[in-house]
Amino acid sequence: MFKLDGKVALVTGGSRGIGRAVCVALAARGAYVVVNFAGNAQAADDTLARIRDAGGDGESKQFDVSDAQAVDDAVTDIVKRRGRLDILVNNAGIALDQLLIRIKPEELEKTFATNVAGSLWCCKAAMRPMMKAKRGRIINLSSVVAESGNPGQAVYSASKAALIGLTKTLAREYASRGVTVNAVAPGFIETDMTSGLPEQAKQAIVAQTPLGRQGTVEEVAAAVVFLASDEASYVTGQVLRVNGGMYV
Ligand code: NAP
Repeated sequence: MFKLDGKVALVTGGSRGIGRAVCVALAARGAYVVVNFAGNAQAADDTLARIRDAGGDGESKQFDVSDAQAVDDAVTDIVKRRGRLDILVNNAGIALDQLLIRIKPEELEKTFATNVAGSLWCCKAAMRPMMKAKRGRIINLSSVVAESGNPGQAVYSASKAALIGLTKTLAREYASRGVTVNAVAPGFIETDMTSGLPEQAKQAIVAQTPLGRQGTVEEVAAAVVFLASDEASYVTGQVLRVNGGMYV
């Protein structure tokens, strides 16, 4: 089950955190994984090393997901060289947390450019080869806060809620072309994005989590692997929550 032999996957933001675990998990099941990163080439190389340790294969590819032309060029290049693109994981994301009254226009613009427009441009570029193949899997990384809300995350939670709308719309638009589109909404996961939170804030989040702990990047990656697999062929337009029961 969950075999991905012969498939080609693109994971945005694969250099660190959840994206890195997704890259390794997809590669361990046989997919050739393109590890996208924004600027951290060393971290992307570390991901590639872990892919190879897991017996897999892949390559790294630098581009900014918010640059529509760069995204299109990258996907065209992957398809030209590898002949296909089966799986797209829109994982690249940023969080510039701030109370509403302090939010600056540039913070809103950067967050939406990366989290929302970045995912949309990647979906657009990937849809062409997927439609041609009459098969594809797109998984968008949303967040628990898209549905629950969270003080200090007005911009971030709005961007992650937008991804749920995007997921549901594309699921309806491309189901007849054999492409499924789903979202994974993680809860509180230990990565660079959350490591800077004060200990007290971390403890408060864990206290609101029925399973009583933070999640791991591997637990999120497992959900992505399922949605990317043939076994998930009748699942589209869904939000798979990996949050320890934090929001039910
Ligand atoms: P992270 O550790 O901060 O890593 C972010 C990744 O995104 C890095 O690989 C980074 O590349 C890449 N990236 C950022 N901007 C980019 C851009 N413009 N173009 C291409 N790549 C870009 O994040 P994470 O915690 O693993 O989160 C991954 C995803 O899960 C995000 O979408 C996040 O919103 C979502 N999520 C996380 C949590 C959590 O608790 N951690 C919870 C819910 C949802 P570089 O290494 O080159 O900088």
